[in-house]
Amino acid sequence: MILTQAKPFEEILDSLKDKTKIFLIGCGECATACKTGGEPELLLLKQKLEEAGKTVIGWCIPQSTCVSAKLKSELAKQIINLRKAEVVLVLSCGLGVQSVKDNDRLGLVILPANNTVAAVLRDSQGRFLEKCSFCGECLLDKTEGICPITLCPKGLLNGPCGGMDKGKCEVDKNRDCAWVLIWKEAQNKNNLEIFKRILPARDYTKSIKPHFVQDIR
Ligand code: SF4
Ligand code: SF4
Repeated sequence: MILTQAKPFEEILDSLKDKTKIFLIGCGECATACKTGGEPELLLLKQKLEEAGKTVIGWCIPQSTCVSAKLKSELAKQIINLRKAEVVLVLSCGLGVQSVKDNDRLGLVILPANNTVAAVLRDSQGRFLEKCSFCGECLLDKTEGICPITLCPKGLLNGPCGGMDKGKCEVDKNRDCAWVLIWKEAQNKNNLEIFKRILPARDYTKSIKPHFVQDIR
């Protein structure tokens, strides 16, 4: 899922400039799970905007704002309100914001209310964990299923840097060094052989964006 954080309210107000008629769009998937784009967040933002002198014309929460088909049917239901709005504030990730922009037929100003942080998994305790950076050349088969590109701030491919201290990362002492985690996992699996090989430099052409558009209809 995509992790988002709400932008500071002052930043949102600033982006609205002198526009006063606002429509809010949330997202029923990731942003709801992150508590940045579900009903409570939309209603709270509505209240704050109204206290700041803005008018919230309406709001909706499509099931998946990044999926055109689901967004379009929700926009169609809201067309009367949308025609009265000047701005649409989108409480989703950047994909949802751009999905709204791509599906807007009224020429509205589309603005983000959230910052998009990372793609994460959610563990059984409800924590959001960033585990993959979408490098386009997965190395997990060579690193005991632990991603050094994401978990090591330097993205090192062949063991720890000189700053590793007592198993902790020099960039953030509260975090385990990714390469110590890989070492421990290899030790548990009796697979320390992996430390005898040297991984070649990554092929950065595989992470040039945009990657591709895949038609899966
Ligand atoms: S190596 Fe890491 S960043 Fe690359 S695809 Fe695999 S998990 Fe994702
Ligand atoms: S201490 Fe480990 S995780 Fe931190 S930057 Fe160095 S190699 Fe990467």
